[in-house]
Amino acid sequence: MAEVIATPSKTAEILRKYDLRAQKRFGQNFLIDPNIVRKIAEAACEKDLPVLEVGPGIGSLTQQLCLCAKEVHTYEIDKKLIPVLQQELGEYENLTITEGDFLEVDLENVSFRDEEITFCSNLPYYVTTPILFKLIESPLKIRRMTVMVQKEVAERFRAQPNDPEYGALSVILAYRYEVKNLLNVGKGAFSPQPRVDSTVVTFTPKGEGNPAFEKSFYPFVQKCFAQRRKTLYNNLRQIPEIADPSELLQKLGFKESVRAQELNVQDFIRLHQEIYEGKSVREDQSGPER
Ligand code: SAM
Repeated sequence: MAEVIATPSKTAEILRKYDLRAQKRFGQNFLIDPNIVRKIAEAACEKDLPVLEVGPGIGSLTQQLCLCAKEVHTYEIDKKLIPVLQQELGEYENLTITEGDFLEVDLENVSFRDEEITFCSNLPYYVTTPILFKLIESPLKIRRMTVMVQKEVAERFRAQPNDPEYGALSVILAYRYEVKNLLNVGKGAFSPQPRVDSTVVTFTPKGEGNPAFEKSFYPFVQKCFAQRRKTLYNNLRQIPEIADPSELLQKLGFKESVRAQELNVQDFIRLHQEIYEGKSVREDQSGPER
């Protein structure tokens, strides 16, 4: 077996060998603590399932995933890292490396589109939310997601109504996933060290889900939070399907001054039902079927 990449000395050696410097603009902070890497890989892997990874970097976590998963499909935006990964992880036949921005990948047309998979990533922090939304809204059959994020972001995942961090992602996660903090990771586990502490979080879908409903519910929740400083009424006014936002709020017992931050998941479901199944739809603009 190749030498473990996730150590301070091997990471320094690889960076020197390929004349590389960690790129801030790509959120590059490489894991150099082998125990943390092992714990993340163990949480992510299911022996018989492929793993999807975003941002392999120089392969620290990817290497461990290759050892415990059926296959690893990994996407790296930094083209300078592709030959490094090909060379350093060349012995793992279950690894597929793709160069490119994961946010641009058409997930309808990937080889693992119809297979059950798990997702694992030490996420590039500058694109945490778009990557998570892309996965949540994707057609992929993701049994579990194991992700390293900024500690503050992990708090936002579990935020409750009226918490300052509460937003569309908190609502959608509360609706669809069981969210657990797996472990806290200090700055010293990375090279270079980030400015913030991190947390590894797992998301496990609750039950089967309802793809047709979610297809319209998720964008609806995002629209309710589109302008956080404005009232829900003002955000609802931007949704063309809603005939009369004022009447809608009154009907469901909300004040016109209410903000999206005050509503819980059930409130959003009731609102959505009333708009897309009820009578508050403009006759010329019926919403998507549920
Ligand atoms: N997995 C490695 C580790 O744990 O040491 C590196 C993690 S580093 C925090 C994030 C990685 O994501 C970097 O390698 C970066 O180049 C890559 N990355 C950043 N934005 C990306 C994107 N949009 N698509 C794919 N990879 C991206």
